Amino acid sequence: MEQTRLIIAVDGYSSTGKSTVSKRLAARLGYTYIDTGAMYRMVTYRAMQEGILRDGKVDDDRLKHALTAMRFDFKYNTRTGHHESYLDGKQVDAEIRGLAVSNNVSLISALAYVREVLVSKQREMGREGGVVMDGRDIGSVVFPRADVKFFMTASPATRARRRYEEMRATNETVSYEEVEANVLYRDHADSSRAASPLIKTRDAIEIDTSETTIEEEVEQMLAVIHARHASRD
Ligand code: C5P
Repeated sequence: MEQTRLIIAVDGYSSTGKSTVSKRLAARLGYTYIDTGAMYRMVTYRAMQEGILRDGKVDDDRLKHALTAMRFDFKYNTRTGHHESYLDGKQVDAEIRGLAVSNNVSLISALAYVREVLVSKQREMGREGGVVMDGRDIGSVVFPRADVKFFMTASPATRARRRYEEMRATNETVSYEEVEANVLYRDHADSSRAASPLIKTRDAIEIDTSETTIEEEVEQMLAVIHARHASRD
């Protein structure tokens, strides 16, 4: 018998390992992985590129207009084993992960009209189930009735160190202090914004990743998902 294809929401603070575990969960379940943070990063990148965002100020009319035409795609590259993000057909992973975009993304993601457009695209992408979607508002706003909701946490020091190592691996010249400041700033901005702030919903299962390995987290999460499957099928 074919199993029900669930919607799995993975929310939490920045650099808690959401995307790493979400990709592995998706691979183990044969589901699609959707990185909603990459969508906010792509909008930020476009806004910076076109001078729509300049010196911390956004030209709302131009951004609203640009949003109507932006196309977001995700592809899994079977040769490299990487998940790739495309904006209007161009792969932009390196561009959107740098500190320049990271420092501006919380400004863009706080705009209600940006969220409205992206949330509607995310609902469309996950409509048929069989998805692991990671972000900040997946269990609270995008899919409040998601089949399984996880909320990832870790100490700020653990998160800053992880992010620093990740950025150094891509050869970006950054200092640990810059990365730590960005992680703390984004946590604060994402949790205190008026539009869909980062919150842990009552039905979300908290996964603290400070002391665990990725494998342990994935197994812990799969056990929850299988139990949920068992109650659905
Ligand atoms: O997940 P990632 O760190 O790549 O997300 C980048 C930023 O995008 C976050 O700091 C947050 O401001 C925003 N975001 C959001 N809602 C989501 C996903 C990301 O506001 N669902």
